[in-house]
Amino acid sequence: MRIGIIGAGVAGLATAKVLKQAGHDVLIYDKSPDVGGVWSRTRRYPGLCTQSPKAQYALSDYPMPKHFPQWPGGEQIQEYLAAYAEASGLTPALRLDTEVTSAEPGPGGWTVTAGGETTRFDRLVVANGVFCEPAVPAYPGLAEFTAAGGRLRAVSDVHDAEQARGKHVLIVGYGKSANDITVPVSLTAATTTVIARHLLWKVPRKIGGFLNFKMLLLTRMGEALFRYIRLRGLEKFLHGPGDGMRGRMINSIGSVSVRQFGLAKLGLVPPGHMEDIVRGAIGLATEGFFEGVGEGRISVRHDRVITRLYAEDGSPYAELDEGSTLPADLVICATGYTQGVPFLPGDVQDRLLDERGNFLLYRQIRPLDVPGLYFNGYNSSFFSPLNAEMAAVWIAADLAGQVPLPDQAEMRRRVVDQLAFMDVATDAHHCRGTKIIPFSMHNVDEVLGDLGLNIGARVRASHWLNPINPAAYRRVTPALLKRLTPAAAEDPVGLRG
Ligand SMILES: Cc1cc2nc3c(=O)[nH]c(=O)nc-3n(C[C@H](O)[C@H](O)[C@H](O)COP(=O)(O)OP(=O)(O)OC[C@H]3O[C@@H](n4cnc5c(N)ncnc54)[C@H](O)[C@@H]3O)c2cc1C
Repeated sequence: MRIGIIGAGVAGLATAKVLKQAGHDVLIYDKSPDVGGVWSRTRRYPGLCTQSPKAQYALSDYPMPKHFPQWPGGEQIQEYLAAYAEASGLTPALRLDTEVTSAEPGPGGWTVTAGGETTRFDRLVVANGVFCEPAVPAYPGLAEFTAAGGRLRAVSDVHDAEQARGKHVLIVGYGKSANDITVPVSLTAATTTVIARHLLWKVPRKIGGFLNFKMLLLTRMGEALFRYIRLRGLEKFLHGPGDGMRGRMINSIGSVSVRQFGLAKLGLVPPGHMEDIVRGAIGLATEGFFEGVGEGRISVRHDRVITRLYAEDGSPYAELDEGSTLPADLVICATGYTQGVPFLPGDVQDRLLDERGNFLLYRQIRPLDVPGLYFNGYNSSFFSPLNAEMAAVWIAADLAGQVPLPDQAEMRRRVVDQLAFMDVATDAHHCRGTKIIPFSMHNVDEVLGDLGLNIGARVRASHWLNPINPAAYRRVTPALLKRLTPAAAEDPVGLRG
């Protein structure tokens, strides 16, 4: 089939590789000039690095370069994904600098308009990134603030800490991106103030100074500490008789982090318990952030929001909700993203979304009621590349009619139940149904369970105490290819182009 793919981030690239190996003709559009999505030079901000250690962020059959540090920087991940695209023979199929402006369903396929050209596809995969379009608050007073020389920027639009040199900088947000950019900015700015609506728990990269957090949280045991919709095996114990022990395991990470970073002295102990991290992603602490606060280079105004931007005596300012004001030459918003599909017609969007705007996707991949359309990357997780790659395998199988799907009513029931569960489990912090944290491996198990292609029980068991190793999944794609076409299986890794 001829397949259009919107997005050349890790999800689009993994999809393209697997579908190409399965014998399809793929074309990948990206509005950026380079591949890599989040890691593109157009979106990289100072301090950007992965949360996942490099082995956990790798694709199953393409290891990260040995010389990369444990937590690679944005430029390194972009380099890695560009090399993956090249090695997988995807370069001729890339249409970079080409924004898809519309994708219309028609009889038996889709018509895509991009870069002024119209192309017909048999199927369409949307991999446009759920953390791609920044959500910047609409502060009152912006025009007056800008006229006085103030600048309001999304974090992904700040590419160099030099932009902050000598300025009074406010950073809005307390997630990983906010903390990451704060450290390099604080080295050039005149003043650096973080405006945090709430404090959040942060996990040290090295818990207690020595234990890599991946040993505790990026394992199947780590995932099992959070109650899933259905409990299996040891989970029944952890959420039954072992519940007290389970809670202590999670919350002890919180007490360690309070001690390790001296949070009480800094006045930055978050409310609630470490278990609350489930409400967002794993909040990994940024190296140097709390040290910067301790040294007085970074101030944190917590439980505060900006209520307006304005100018006074020709200089730009921000006002906070309790009435105080701060000079603000540059306001950087790390305030999240919007999840949208503006290129799809309104009636298609109506069928994709529920009344609250949540995406209704079976296995996070297949719309319930829009034929010929798939999504990838709408399963953002602790191991996003692995989830995307396994979703690509699922799509390849479904294109071949090899996924045993329940009937429409049952699919809808499961999707609706899952969303209702995620509402409770994450306090509705699931980015309109597109983020599956902390249930990353449950999703992998379900996706591969549909195909009867899960990896062996012994390796899965080893991931209870050792970090998930995406390389353990490297034979999944070849196994599917063998089932689909014996010829494709002759180039199982797909690196011959
Ligand atoms: C700062 C940050 C750090 C992260 N760190 C981690 C981590 O450590 N571990 C982890 O597992 N996950 C992490 N994530 C989650 C992350 O979203 C995924 O790891 C992954 O990069 C998402 O890939 P994607 O391909 O789905 O989306 P993206 O990387 O966002 O790629 C989508 C692409 O689609 C393109 N596009 C969008 N609309 C159009 C259009 N209309 N026409 C053409 N092209 C279009 C965009 O230009 C973009 O290149 C992080 C996310 C962020 C934002």
